[in-house]
Amino acid sequence: MSLIKCPSCQKQISDKVIMCPHCDYSFNQTKEELDRVKVINYRKYRDKMYRFKMLTYTAIAIAVAGLVPMLWAYAQAIDYGFNASITNHWGIYLVMTGFALYVVIRILMVSSKKKYKSSK
Ligand SMILES: [Zn+2]
Repeated sequence: MSLIKCPSCQKQISDKVIMCPHCDYSFNQTKEELDRVKVINYRKYRDKMYRFKMLTYTAIAIAVAGLVPMLWAYAQAIDYGFNASITNHWGIYLVMTGFALYVVIRILMVSSKKKYKSSK
C-alpha cells in the first residue's frame, strides 16, 4: 500500500481506497482517470526537479562568483611576489555558501526522487 494525493482535495490517502475519505471523490474510476492522476503526479515531480536543477545552477554560480575573484587575487598576488593566502579572500565565503547550498539541494533531490518512485 502506498499513499497518493487525492486528485480532488489533495489530501494524502491510500491508493487502495475506492472513495476519498475526505471529500468523497470516487476512485471507482476508469483507467483513463487513473492515468490522469499519474500524469498530474509526474508533472508535479518534473516541475519540482526542474526547480531543484535551477537552484543547483544558482549554487554553482554563487560558488564560481566567489572562486573567480579569489583565484584572480591569488594570481595577482603571486605576480607581485606576495605571500598570498587564498583562504583570506572574501570569495571563500561565497564558495562555501555555494557548495553548502549545492549539497543541500542534492540531498533534497535524492529524497524527492525516492518519494516519487515509492508513490508510483
Ligand atoms: Zn479527497
